[in-house]
Amino acid sequence: MTHYKLMIPGPVDVEDEVLAAMGQPTLPHYGSEWLGIYHDVIAGLKKVFQTESDVLLMPGPGSAALEAALNSLLSPGDGVCIPVSGFFSRRLAQIAEVNGLNVLPVDFAPGQPVEPDTLRQRLAEQPRPRVLAVVHHETSTGVLNPLKEIADVAREFDLPIIVDAVSSLGGVPLPVDEWGIDVCVTVANKCLATPPGIAILSVSPRAWKMVAAQENPGRGWYLNLGTWRWYMDNWAWHPYPITLPTNNIVALQVSLQHILAEGLEAHYAKYVQASSLVRRGLRDLGFETFIPDEWACPLISAVRTRPDVPVSDLQAFLRDEHGLLIAGGLEELRGVIFRVGHMGKAASPEYSQAFLQGVADFLHCRELV
Ligand SMILES: *Cc1c(COP(=O)(O)O)cnc(C)c1O
Repeated sequence: MTHYKLMIPGPVDVEDEVLAAMGQPTLPHYGSEWLGIYHDVIAGLKKVFQTESDVLLMPGPGSAALEAALNSLLSPGDGVCIPVSGFFSRRLAQIAEVNGLNVLPVDFAPGQPVEPDTLRQRLAEQPRPRVLAVVHHETSTGVLNPLKEIADVAREFDLPIIVDAVSSLGGVPLPVDEWGIDVCVTVANKCLATPPGIAILSVSPRAWKMVAAQENPGRGWYLNLGTWRWYMDNWAWHPYPITLPTNNIVALQVSLQHILAEGLEAHYAKYVQASSLVRRGLRDLGFETFIPDEWACPLISAVRTRPDVPVSDLQAFLRDEHGLLIAGGLEELRGVIFRVGHMGKAASPEYSQAFLQGVADFLHCRELV
C-alpha cells in the first residue's frame, strides 16, 4: 500500500504511537478497564474543549453530530440562523433544511469572514430564530470566523449557539464555556490527530434543556441527543446507547495525552509556525494566498494558483513524484485555489519543507521558474 504524506484538510497523518494504540486487541465497550479509559478520554476532551459541560463520543463523521445537534435542539418549523460563506456552511444549512428546520441564511462572499455587525443587523430585522448555527473554520476557503464576536451577538439575542468546529477544535483557541458555546462539534481526525471514525460534541446545560423540552422526541434514535441523555442517566456501566469504536478511542487517548503534555498553547503555536513557513515559501515561488492573513486560519493554507500552474497538474506531480497529497478547491473554487493542510504530522517542518521542495521541483520541471 502506498503511504502518502497527507497535507489535506483531513483526515491527517497521525503519530506512530497513535497508530500502534489503534492496533491493540479490541476491548469491549463496557467493563471497568474500558470505563477507566473512556472517562479519562472524556476528561482529556473537556480540557481541550475548555468546558465543564458533558462531552459525548458519537461514532461517525462530523456531519452526523451536526445533524444530531440541529435535530435534537430544534423541531421541524423552528428557525435557525446560519451564516453561509462556503461549502461547509452551505452544507450545515442543507442539513438543517432536510430536517425540516426553517433556515434563515445570512450570506457572505466565499473567502470573506462572517461579520458580526451584519449578523446583528439581520437578526434584528428577522423574526427571532431559536438557534444560531455557525461554522468556525470554513475549511473550503481557510477563513477562521471571529467566533468570540459571533457568540457575543448570539448572547445579545439570547440565542443558543451550535458551532461546527470540525476543523478547528484543538488547533486554534476555542474556550467553549468562556465563549458560551452550547453545542460544539468536532471530530477525532482533524486537529485531534487520530484516524477517522468518531465525532465529538459538547452539550451545555441550556442545550440539554432544549433537548428535554422537545415535544416530539420520537424523531430519530441514534442522532437524537435525548437517547444519549437517557443512557448517560440510566446506564452507568455503559453511558452511551451503542457500541463504541474502542480501538479509535484508545488511539484518541494517546493523541490527547500528547497534546495535553505539550500544552494547548504550544500545540496551537505549531500550526501557526507551519502555516507561516508554507505561506512565505509559496509567496517566494510567486503564489498568492486566497485570503488575507488576518482572517486566515493557521490550520490550512488556501492558495490562489498561478495562471501557469493548473491545480490538478500540481496535485498529480506532488502525489506521483513526492508522495504528498494536497487538496484542490471545492465547487466554484475548483481550479482556482489549492489547499494545504497543516494538521496532524503536516504541522512538522519536515512536511512543510517537503511540500515547498515539491512545488519548487514542479516549477523547475515545467520550466516555470
Ligand atoms: C471536514 C469538515 C466537515 C465534515 O466532516 P465529516 O466528518 O466529513 O462529516 C464539516 N465541517 C467542516 C468545517 C469540516 O472541515
